[in-house]
Amino acid sequence: MKKNNPNIVEVKSLFKKYGDIYAVKGISFEVPEGEIFGMLGPNGAGKTTTIEIIEGMRKADSGTTFINGLNTLNNQKKIKQIIGVQLQQNAFFEYLNLFEIIDLYANLYGKKINPSDLLFKVELSEKEKSKFKELSGGQKQRLSIAIALVNDPYVLFLDEPTTGLDPQARRHVWNLIKNIKSEGRTIIMTTHYMEEAEELCDRVAIIDSGKIIALDSPSNLIDKLIKKGFKSKRSIKKASLDDVFLDLTGQELRDT
Ligand code: ATP
Repeated sequence: MKKNNPNIVEVKSLFKKYGDIYAVKGISFEVPEGEIFGMLGPNGAGKTTTIEIIEGMRKADSGTTFINGLNTLNNQKKIKQIIGVQLQQNAFFEYLNLFEIIDLYANLYGKKINPSDLLFKVELSEKEKSKFKELSGGQKQRLSIAIALVNDPYVLFLDEPTTGLDPQARRHVWNLIKNIKSEGRTIIMTTHYMEEAEELCDRVAIIDSGKIIALDSPSNLIDKLIKKGFKSKRSIKKASLDDVFLDLTGQELRDT
């Protein structure tokens, strides 16, 4: 891909209203290539609306978004070729098997790929011949990430990629996301799990009531809080209940 800008994603002064409610009130940020950028914030803060505007799935009232220097509004065809979007799960074809689903999406993009390779990457090789409706929640999440990768995208958008998953499945998705980053792709994701943001994100924007109220690396944000004199009420132990769970039940996926 010809690089037009060191910041592969640029968001400038986005505003979006639904009826009388301002969902997004002047959001601006930039994401350099190869970063995992997290969007955190309470329910209804405006994260999904912002992501959908950047993807070109929703129109802002004002403001501009650029991907690789291209204004997303005027270049929708080109943008579609370079981004991957994790679709909502009800968008899939219940009666096709996983190989056929991947093949179908690859054809829609005019890409020649081997669906088995992509299914291997997301640890679904054994389910190649299974139907979508026969998958567990974790398997469905991994399939939706595989589908977002069919066009070999430069920027991947993941909206709550591990919601509802058990600790093993969550860690497998984390490893998958790290592998995708190591291929040089940029990832913009939302999550409500702070340990997930800490583990994966180079930087996070904390969004509240449609505005970014903090933007930095997780480590810097924690340091700033401690500098303000914050004292945790919890006693910090060397292991967590999550560690206990994984020690007792193992790291392997349970839904294969
Ligand atoms: P969550 O963490 O719950 O997914 P979010 O941060 O992604 O929340 P949004 O889904 O962007 O938040 O919603 C922001 C605000 O806009 C909320 O008040 C929501 O009710 C409203 N909203 C979102 N989509 C629509 C819509 N299609 N029509 C009307 N209002 C909407």
